[in-house]
Amino acid sequence: MSTPENLPATNFIRQIIKNDLADKKHHKIVTRFPPEPNGFLHIGHAKSICLNFGVAAENQGICHLRFDDTNPEKESEEYAQAIARDVRWLGFEWAELKYSSDYFTQLYAFAVQLIEKGLAYVDSLNAEQIREYRGSLTEPGRESPDRNRSIADNLDLFARMRDGEFADGQYVLRAKIDMASANINMRDPTLYRIRRVHHQRTGDDWCLYPMYDYTHCISDALEGITHSLCTLEFEDHRPLYDWVLDNIDIACHPQQIEFARLVLEYTIVSKRKLNQLVVEQHVSGWDDPRMPTLAGLRRAGYTPAAIREFCERIGVTKKDSSIEMAVLENCIRDDLNNTAARAMAVLEPLKVVIENYPDDQVEELEASNHPQNEAMGKRKVPFSKVVYIEQDDFAEVPPPKFKRLITGGEVRLRGAYVIKCHAVIKNEQGKITELRCTYDADTLGKKPEGRKVKGVIHWVSATHALNAEVRLYDRLFNVPNPGAEEDFCAVLNPNSLQILTDAKIEASLATAEPGSRFQFERVGYFCLDTEDSHAGKLVFNRTVTLRDTWA
Ligand code: ATP
Ligand code: MG
Repeated sequence: MSTPENLPATNFIRQIIKNDLADKKHHKIVTRFPPEPNGFLHIGHAKSICLNFGVAAENQGICHLRFDDTNPEKESEEYAQAIARDVRWLGFEWAELKYSSDYFTQLYAFAVQLIEKGLAYVDSLNAEQIREYRGSLTEPGRESPDRNRSIADNLDLFARMRDGEFADGQYVLRAKIDMASANINMRDPTLYRIRRVHHQRTGDDWCLYPMYDYTHCISDALEGITHSLCTLEFEDHRPLYDWVLDNIDIACHPQQIEFARLVLEYTIVSKRKLNQLVVEQHVSGWDDPRMPTLAGLRRAGYTPAAIREFCERIGVTKKDSSIEMAVLENCIRDDLNNTAARAMAVLEPLKVVIENYPDDQVEELEASNHPQNEAMGKRKVPFSKVVYIEQDDFAEVPPPKFKRLITGGEVRLRGAYVIKCHAVIKNEQGKITELRCTYDADTLGKKPEGRKVKGVIHWVSATHALNAEVRLYDRLFNVPNPGAEEDFCAVLNPNSLQILTDAKIEASLATAEPGSRFQFERVGYFCLDTEDSHAGKLVFNRTVTLRDTWA
């Protein structure tokens, strides 16, 4: 993939990179995707992944995967593995796998440099006091009494912090910048704090850990990143990013560029909040198909291609906006419309007995796996005396324009015969349990003589059908912007999962691989569940409806 010189770049970041290459500012583009391993990746991360890996690949550059692992309390190697797997699943391969913790020794040495230059000091104010001294947007901060501690004392104290002489929180290392800065991030930000927590990679080697802002810029520079792409909330942190790199002895100075984060309606894109949904068991796990995580989308049946297409369609801008769920759903619909094999499944079955069909006869009817793609081949679909149709494809009292089956009316069974309903059988509660029909033997692949039959419905042969559980998913939240709610769990959609336990599936799906995707004709797109489905109990997840019916 390369962007021809004469084509306009499609977003402002591509344009910056194009210019930098033209100006020979860089010969080779190096980007990184830097997740914190404190949860699973979500659709918001996909935007960042597609951007970082995408712009690198388009320009014959490279992109690293770097775990920003400086908060050991919340992080784990399991999360790191899940993240790496999901990046690969989305279709990207990193040049190198990095961890910020690999740089702990170098980060420490750079902090010593800052102290030696009189640009960092050890402070004994506690977290609350630091907040209080920091001032506000309208008033300047106050200098800590420790701000003018001697360089020698700072070096001594910092070494003893590392050696474990002090309690957690007793001291911090702060940059010495400007307590009156209009940018609060520049009011002597904390660079290191003491925290006795076991780290998933460095174990108990360290009892002090570097802060995100300090770590990120140096990690970028050590990796020779040319363009450090991040979301807009880091715009106010850019002066600190630059200050750190300007004041340590390091040659590389990546350019931080901010873009708008993805906000998707009716869901939440924050690992912390998604974690809460998992911990409080509002969902079955990080890979619950209702979750906007890559693992959840995959389990629901989303393809990597559809998610990449979504990221392309939403674009990359400097302006925050929230994207309608329909945009994402249209991407998977378009993809599956082209790629998913067709099959017949009846989700809520109603038994139909075809009285004039020979008792033991079975016809193997041929059906295309895809109407527009012959290469996907054909399959045999058995037809017999008893079939299931969808309960709502029959109406005793039909609403206006009802084109399906009614008493005394005809309908075509897709790919098979025209049938006519003569009688309705009900149970004691008055529920319809069975229809008695006849078929017209002269209508296989042919129009009936002398009359028009408009409706076509799907069906499965009762003796051949496979039983299945079908899970129908809906939006996880009832409001477009749950993230803005004080208690987002209060606006969960109580009907986000409907389980149908009596679905009947055509026999050819008996050997379907878990994870395979189908269009159940007239019903929607479905994926054979990878976790709960096994021989004897098929479980299908609805990926998306056939049309956008959500209102
Ligand atoms: P979360 O709040 O979900 O943990 P984060 O920004 O803290 O999100 P990181 O693991 O630090 O998560 O994110 C890795 C990269 O993904 C960062 O560069 C971040 O800017 C980007 N990113 C995270 N969420 C989004 C989003 N909604 N849209 C675009 N990029 C995102
Ligand atoms: Mg984070």
